[in-house]
Amino acid sequence: MRNESLRPESIPPALAGFVPAASRHADGTLADKYGRHVTYLRLSITDRCDFRCTYCMAEEMTFLPRAQVLTLEECLRIVTTFVALGVTKVRVTGGEPLVRHNAVWLMEQIAGLEGIKEVVVTTNGSQLDRFAPALLAAGVKRINISLDTLRAERFREITRIGDLAKVLRGIDAARGAGFQRIKLNTVMMRGRNDDEFIDLVQFAVDKGIDIAFIEEMPLGEIGHGRESSYFGSEEAIARLQTRFALLPSTETTGGPARYWRIPDTQTRVGFISPHSHNFCDTCNRVRVTAQGELYPCLGNNDAIGLLPLLRAHPGDDAPLRQAIMKTMGIKAKGHEFGEQMNAPQVVRFMSMTGG
Ligand code: SAM
Ligand code: SF4
Repeated sequence: MRNESLRPESIPPALAGFVPAASRHADGTLADKYGRHVTYLRLSITDRCDFRCTYCMAEEMTFLPRAQVLTLEECLRIVTTFVALGVTKVRVTGGEPLVRHNAVWLMEQIAGLEGIKEVVVTTNGSQLDRFAPALLAAGVKRINISLDTLRAERFREITRIGDLAKVLRGIDAARGAGFQRIKLNTVMMRGRNDDEFIDLVQFAVDKGIDIAFIEEMPLGEIGHGRESSYFGSEEAIARLQTRFALLPSTETTGGPARYWRIPDTQTRVGFISPHSHNFCDTCNRVRVTAQGELYPCLGNNDAIGLLPLLRAHPGDDAPLRQAIMKTMGIKAKGHEFGEQMNAPQVVRFMSMTGG
């Protein structure tokens, strides 16, 4: 299932001998050639997952052999280098980050780095009933939990193997632990969960948490036709307005979501709309996959492999630092999702880059 053309050694010819014009801004942060500052790193710590969500993975997945996956110490080395280059926020994701042994140790180390302002996690919630208090103690203050449906049978269909009851227990464990903010992430799919958007928002209101709806992105070749299931944000907003008063909000959590508030509740409703509302102009992030590929843009195939550098220079971070700075020079102006939902312009699965 994996795409061989994405192996790190095949990717960076564009970088050979390339000296970017502006890889660091005067304020010390990383900057790309369009003047965008990169202060946010999304790190996938595993490509493995205990679910097989239909929009994210193929039914039969081949996962990476252990030796090709970053060790947690290598993850920390990468993050430390990014933080020294001005990154202040790190999201730990996957695959499912909480199925990786000792994931909480890594988060604690990251949270303790000088210069870091925020460590956040995106999880499918399946392990949260075990890990929520430990995550909070490790310094994680905000957490995103994916939830596409409140119906157990449908949950099983969408995730192929997931158990809704366990995830709901995880959500309650996170609420009990006392995170600053909890946000649900819902991928919108016509004919599959669009009849539940109102129920999902009501669920978020009842639990006193946020929710963000995400337009499905064409990443990786999957089983279902994405074109027929695509559901845009504007239609979802109109649908929610039949039940809730949505007040536009200028609030941001530093990401691409546009937020609405529901009066007299704690809940914010966000929309992440890569198709209908392109947010590339304000992009402040880069991604590192579990095998150490640095992707400057989620919607683009350009990347550079950091793992060979880490292993070739165990005691010297200078080559790593150089590679990171150079990669800023190939950060694309915008994603290449285009109109064709069924023919993925991006050949890797979302579980590889971590969303
Ligand atoms: N396993 C964790 C989870 O599900 O939250 C973290 C990794 S998952 C890849 C991160 C986010 O990406 C999830 O909220 C998931 O719903 C979303 N996602 C996966 N595939 C997607 C796609 N094709 N389009 C839009 N969002 C997607
Ligand atoms: Fe796993 Fe998250 Fe992908 Fe679902 S969306 S298969 S939970 S990585």
